[in-house]
Amino acid sequence: MLNKKSVDDINVKGKRVLCRCDFNVPLQNGVITDENRLVAALPTIKKLVADGGKVILCSHLGKPKGVAKPELSLAPVAARLTELLGQEVKFAADDCVVGENAKAAVAAMNDGDIVLLQNTRYRAEETKNGEAFSKELASLADVFVNDAFGTAHRAHCSTVGVTEFVDTCAVGYLMQKEIDFLGNAVNNPARPFVAILGGSKVSSKISVINNLLEKVDVLIIGGGMSYTFAKAQGEEIGKSLVEDDYIEYAKEMIAKAEAKGVKFLLPIDTVAAKEFNNDAPSRVVEGSMAADEMGLDIGPKTCELYKAALADAKTVVWNGPMGVFEMPNFAKGTIAVAEALAAIDATTIIGGGDSAAAVNTLGFGDKMTHISTGGGASLEFLEGKELPGVAAINDK
Ligand code: AMP
Repeated sequence: MLNKKSVDDINVKGKRVLCRCDFNVPLQNGVITDENRLVAALPTIKKLVADGGKVILCSHLGKPKGVAKPELSLAPVAARLTELLGQEVKFAADDCVVGENAKAAVAAMNDGDIVLLQNTRYRAEETKNGEAFSKELASLADVFVNDAFGTAHRAHCSTVGVTEFVDTCAVGYLMQKEIDFLGNAVNNPARPFVAILGGSKVSSKISVINNLLEKVDVLIIGGGMSYTFAKAQGEEIGKSLVEDDYIEYAKEMIAKAEAKGVKFLLPIDTVAAKEFNNDAPSRVVEGSMAADEMGLDIGPKTCELYKAALADAKTVVWNGPMGVFEMPNFAKGTIAVAEALAAIDATTIIGGGDSAAAVNTLGFGDKMTHISTGGGASLEFLEGKELPGVAAINDK
C-alpha cells in the first residue's frame, strides 16, 4: 500500500484545497470526446466537497507551451464537470492562471464550493517547475491534493513545485488506486505473472523490459518493436519498423530472460503488407519477409501461442498494441490478446495510452481489472522509477 497521506488522512473543513487533477481530455471543436479522466477524478472532488473544503481544481490540457491558446482553455471541462457533479464549477478564466479572476473567485468561496483554474500550461514556467508560479499556486491554498496520476511522472509547478510552499499535501483517490493496482501487480503479483509489451519502439520500453524481466514469469512481445528482436535473431524483416541501435540490447534481453528462467515469447508469424495502409493486400509470413514487405500485426499462430501463454496467468500487465490496431485489417492480434485477457480469471492491468485506447475502442474496457489513466506515468512506474508527483507528497 502507498505510504503517503491521502484525502482520508487530512482535515479540509473550511480550508482552501488546491486539487491537481488530470483533465487532459481529447477535445474536438470544444467538445470533449472521451471523458474517462473527468469521471475518474469525481470521487476525490466529491470527498473534498463533502468534507467542507473550498475546492480549487487545476490541470493542464494539451501542450500550449506557455501561450494562452483559446482552443486549449479548460472552459469546456468546467461546464462538463458542473453537469457531472450536479454543482457549479466556477471557471476562473485568467490567461496567467493565478490572476484577478482566480483570486476573486477563491476569496468569494464558501465551504464546499468548487473553482477551476485555467490551463496551467498557459504559463511557460509550469513545465520547468519554476518557483514563482509554484508560489502563486500555493498562495491560493492551505492544502494541496495531487490526484493527477497521468502527470505524476513530471516534476512541474502544479505537481511538485507547489508542494514546497504548502504545508499539508496528500494524494487523491485516483492516484492511490492507480499506484495500488500497479504496485501490487508488479511487486506482489499472484503468479504466473505475465507482461505483454507492444507498440512501436523498443527504445521507449527498454527500461520496462529490463525491470519486468526481474519480476515476471512470462514476457510477451508484439507490435512494431518485435521486429528489432526478430532481426537480432537473424531474420529478414523487410521494411518493418526496426531500431538498429537496439539490436545488441535485444540480444541482451533475450539472454537475460534465459538466465532468469523467464519465458520470453516473440512472434512466430506475422501479417505483412507492402504498404502501410489498411487496404494493402497482406499475407501471413513465417520466418523471413521479402525485402519490400513490412510486418503490421502478429499472425494467427502467434495469437494462439499468446492465448495459450495467458490461459493460466493470474496477473497480467499489458502495455502497447500487437500491431497497427488503428487499421481494422491489422487489429486482429490486439483483439486476440484483449479477448484472451477478458476470458481469464486473473488481475488484468492495462497500462494506459494506446493499449487503453485499444481495449476501450475494441469494447473490452469493462472486462479488465484496471485501466490506467496515465500512459507515460504507468510506463515509468513499470520501469521501477519513483514518480516525482507522488514522492513530493507527505508520508503518512
Ligand atoms: P507506442 O506508442 O510505442 O505504444 O506505440 C503504439 C503505436 O504502435 C500504435 O499507433 C500502433 O499503430 C503502432 N504499431 C504497432 N505495431 C506496429 C507495426 N508492426 N508497425 C508499425 N507501427 C506499429
